[in-house]
Amino acid sequence: MAMKRGWVEVVCGPMYSGKSEELLRRIRRALIARQKVQVFKHGIDDRYSIDSLVSHDGRKVETIPVKNSKEIFDHLDNPAVLVIDEVQFFDDGIIEVTEELINRGIRVIAAGLDRDFKADPFGPMSGLLALAEKVDKITAICVKCGKAAAYTQRIVDGVPAKKDDPIVMVGAKNSYEARCRDCYQLA
Ligand SMILES: [Zn+2]
Repeated sequence: MAMKRGWVEVVCGPMYSGKSEELLRRIRRALIARQKVQVFKHGIDDRYSIDSLVSHDGRKVETIPVKNSKEIFDHLDNPAVLVIDEVQFFDDGIIEVTEELINRGIRVIAAGLDRDFKADPFGPMSGLLALAEKVDKITAICVKCGKAAAYTQRIVDGVPAKKDDPIVMVGAKNSYEARCRDCYQLA
């Protein structure tokens, strides 16, 4: 008998749009349904930090940091639901990994920034969005005008970022804001 396949749902949007809250909501619901949940996150720099998410009845779900997409398989412990947070930082292999997880019957929930500070698709996100059965693109609030914000504005040393700035800038004082299309600036 063929095993039932899973599916992938993507939660995306700019910074400060509440992606983590939405993830937590879905994780809590899965736990209430007594499903096994595993949470993965990209450990982009070597800080080995594990955030613990606590469910309604005190059961803990730990976040497992991995260095690349394939490493997810090393930690698989028969989950019904597999959450990938900050999925934009993963290599393109995450798309194939996600398909393999789906083929094993797992419901995959992937959350991350759909666009980088240049408003280009962030890493593997365009491929993941194409693969997804369900996409929720959520907005933040523009810090300038209060409209719905779908852009992440990067500020470098006090001024809007430039087009040719690298995605990861070492040494510069970076901050980020949610902005709408009208208020977003790329110098
Ligand atoms: Zn605005």
